[in-house]
Amino acid sequence: MKYEKVSTEMLEKLKAIVGTKNVQTDPDLMQPYSHDEVTDPAYHHMPEAVVFAETAEQVAAVVRLANAGHFPVVPRGAGTGLACGAVPTCGGIVLSLEKMNRILEINENALYAVVEPGVRTSDLQQAAENKGLFYAGDPCSGDSCFIGGNIATNAGGNRAVKYGTTRHQVYAIEVVNPKGHIVHLGARLQKQSTGYCLDQLIIGSEGTLGIVTQATLKLLPKPLYSLDLLAIFNDTEQAIGVVNKIIKAGITPTCVEYMDNITIKSVEHYLNETLQGSDCGNYLIVEVEGTSEDDLDEKAVTLDEICTANGASSLLVADHNKIWQARKAFAEAVRAESLIVCKEDVVVPVDKEPQLLHYILQLAQKYRLVTRIASHAGDGNIHLNILKNEDATYEDWDMRVKQNQQELYTFIYQLGGRLSGEHGIGYKRKHLMEEFTDPDELEMMRDIKKALDPNNILNPGKIFNIE
Ligand SMILES: Cc1cc2nc3c(=O)[nH]c(=O)nc-3n(C[C@H](O)[C@H](O)[C@H](O)COP(=O)(O)OP(=O)(O)OC[C@H]3O[C@@H](n4cnc5c(N)ncnc54)[C@H](O)[C@@H]3O)c2cc1C
Repeated sequence: MKYEKVSTEMLEKLKAIVGTKNVQTDPDLMQPYSHDEVTDPAYHHMPEAVVFAETAEQVAAVVRLANAGHFPVVPRGAGTGLACGAVPTCGGIVLSLEKMNRILEINENALYAVVEPGVRTSDLQQAAENKGLFYAGDPCSGDSCFIGGNIATNAGGNRAVKYGTTRHQVYAIEVVNPKGHIVHLGARLQKQSTGYCLDQLIIGSEGTLGIVTQATLKLLPKPLYSLDLLAIFNDTEQAIGVVNKIIKAGITPTCVEYMDNITIKSVEHYLNETLQGSDCGNYLIVEVEGTSEDDLDEKAVTLDEICTANGASSLLVADHNKIWQARKAFAEAVRAESLIVCKEDVVVPVDKEPQLLHYILQLAQKYRLVTRIASHAGDGNIHLNILKNEDATYEDWDMRVKQNQQELYTFIYQLGGRLSGEHGIGYKRKHLMEEFTDPDELEMMRDIKKALDPNNILNPGKIFNIE
C-alpha cells in the first residue's frame, strides 16, 4: 500500500497536537527509534518523525490526523521487542508512549492497578510489592520493557506456568482505535458474556488494531513462601521431559526454565561468575510457592523424587537472586557472543517439548548451526538462538538458517505448535506467518484488520500483508 510522506504541513499539525518539543525529526535523535532489539541492520528503518504523546486525547488526535494525511502510525513502548514490531517499515511516524508512564492507582482492597502504557514492568512489580502485593507478569526484559508493550505482544516470561501470560493479568484497557476514537474495553469483572471480547482481541495484536493508553491490571497477595530448586541433567531431553511429570504430580510450579550447558557457560562468561553446578550438565530451574515452610519442604521432596527418577544427577537449592540473574542474562550473553543471531521463539504442547528439543539438536547438526538454547520449559516455549559461525559468510549462514526454519516449522506445526510463543510476529516473522498459518485463519485475521483499520494506518506491514 502506498502512503503519503509526512509533509511539513503535517509536522506542523502534529506539533499543534502534542507540542513542538514532542515532535522529533533530527536523524541522530530518531536513530534509536529505527530499531528494536533485533541487532541486524537489515531490519532497521528510520521513521519520518518521532512523536511523543502525553495523553490519550493526543494519541487519538494523531491517529485521526494520520487517517486524514494517510501516513502510518507505529506505536512504540520501550523498543525491547524481538520481532521488529515497533519498527516503521512502511515509513510514517513512530508514536512513542514513553512519556505516559504514571501508575495512576494501586487498589489494595480490590487488588488492581491502573497504569499508563509507558510504565516499566519492574516499576509496577515494585510498586505492588511495596504494598505487600504482587503483579504476576514477569518477562525477562522486565527491567526495561513497558506494560503497553507487554499487552501489545501478550508477553509471557517466567511465571506464565502458574499465572498465565500478560492477557491473563488484564481486566480492562483503554485503547485508541485505528479511526482515532478512545474506547474502553473489558471491565473489572471476574466474568462476563457480553458480546465480543474486544479487549482480548487487542491484546497480542502488536499495535495493529489499537494503541493501548491505559490498563487496569490484576494484583494478587504477595506469595509468602517460595523456593528455587536447580535440577541438573546430563541428558537434554530427560531434563525437559520432567516438566510434564511435575505438572502431572499435581505441583503447579511458578516457573520452570531450561538452559543447556553451552548456554550456561556463555552466561557464566558474560557475568564473569561461576554458576552452581555449571560443569555438571543442563539446568532445569524450578520455582515453587507454598503456604508454609512445611508445604515447601513437601514439594521439594516430591520434586527431588521426580527429577532423580528421570535422570537428574543432582538437585540443589538455588540462590534465588543468582539463578534468576543468570537466567535473565541469557539474551545479553548471546548478544556479547555475536550481533548476528537468529532468534527462534517456537512453542509446542508441553508434552511434545522433548521431541522438539531432539529435533532442534538434529537439525543443528545437519545444518552446522551454532546454537544457544534456553526455554520457558513449563510453557513449551523454546528460545533457540542461532549464532553466525565465525568461519562462514553471512550468505552461507543465512541460507542454512532458512533451510533449518523450513524443516523446523513444518515439524512444529505437525506437533500442534506455533511459530511464536511470546515475542510475536512483527515484521521479522511475517513471511513465515503467511507460509505456515492456515489460509482461512489468516483470511479471518485480514478481514478483522480491514474492518477495524480501513486505511491500514496502524502499524502496517506487521503480522501479515494486506493486499
Ligand atoms: C533481554 C530480553 C528478554 C526478553 N524476555 C522476554 C520474555 O521473557 N517474555 C516475553 O514475552 N518477551 C521477552 N522479550 C521481548 C520484549 O521485551 C517483549 O516483547 C515486550 O513485551 C516488549 O515491550 P516493549 O515496551 O519494549 O515494546 P516495543 O518493543 O516498543 O513494541 C513491541 C510491539 O508492541 C507494540 N506496542 C508497544 N506499545 C504499545 C501500545 N501502548 N499500544 C499498542 N501497541 C504497542 C509495538 O508497535 C510493537 O508491535 C525480551 C526481550 C529482551 C531484549
